[in-house]
Amino acid sequence: MTNDFPTNRPLILISNDDGIDAPGLRALVSALSGLGDLCVVAPLTEQSAVGHAITVRDPVRARPWPFETPPDVVAAYAVTGTPADCVKLAIDKLVPRRPDLVVSGINQGPNAAVNVIYSGTVSAATEAAILGIDALAVSLCRWRGGDFGPAGRYARRIAAGVLREGLPPGVLLNVNVPALPLGEIRGVAVTRQAHSRWEESFVDRVDPSNQPYYWLTGRFVNLDEGADTDLAAIDDGFVSVTPLHYDLTAYEALDALRNRSWDG
Ligand code: MN
Repeated sequence: MTNDFPTNRPLILISNDDGIDAPGLRALVSALSGLGDLCVVAPLTEQSAVGHAITVRDPVRARPWPFETPPDVVAAYAVTGTPADCVKLAIDKLVPRRPDLVVSGINQGPNAAVNVIYSGTVSAATEAAILGIDALAVSLCRWRGGDFGPAGRYARRIAAGVLREGLPPGVLLNVNVPALPLGEIRGVAVTRQAHSRWEESFVDRVDPSNQPYYWLTGRFVNLDEGADTDLAAIDDGFVSVTPLHYDLTAYEALDALRNRSWDG
């Protein structure tokens, strides 16, 4: 890292889990254009659902990537690793100085409720929060195609707000944008994660060598009837903004567990 970075503009690091070629990444770069100097460090290949995995037993390579879009992209790299790898490597080696903000996305598909745990998109932002940098993850609530424009508009608006006002220490924002035309989005709702789970069912099949293999499928079940959840907000046409933290301690359980006898 150098100290002679040429501008006083904010430095924004952009990553994702859909890979360097994903349309949502390009949409995010365009949407954030003008807010600051942009660095793009994203996985070379799609890393959806890798969660917070990091690469420790293999080398990680960073390839400079030709990004022909807006002029304020000051550096772009594709990395042979996960979203968390991208943020770690970017901050240690690839960006000209410590970023003011990390934005991950725009993911193709929602990252709400329990899916936050599996999300690579959210993990890029989580890694930034762990490193003490304000961060948000942005997802478009549609699994294929769709217009990333409205999600980009909200990403820009929320990013500008975070640059201006910051975030509480250790908190990152998980933003989910409904797949609606801009004029039909009803605004921003600050939400909590809905209680939910996947009911898994592995399809079993047999490979050409007659060996069994399994393929994960499942049914997503919302177990939460609250009106203040991410899922409810998205269903109602709001952009859901959920503050997350990476301290997974169940504080409400501490007292009861401390009062238990652990001696048998
Ligand atoms: Mn993804």
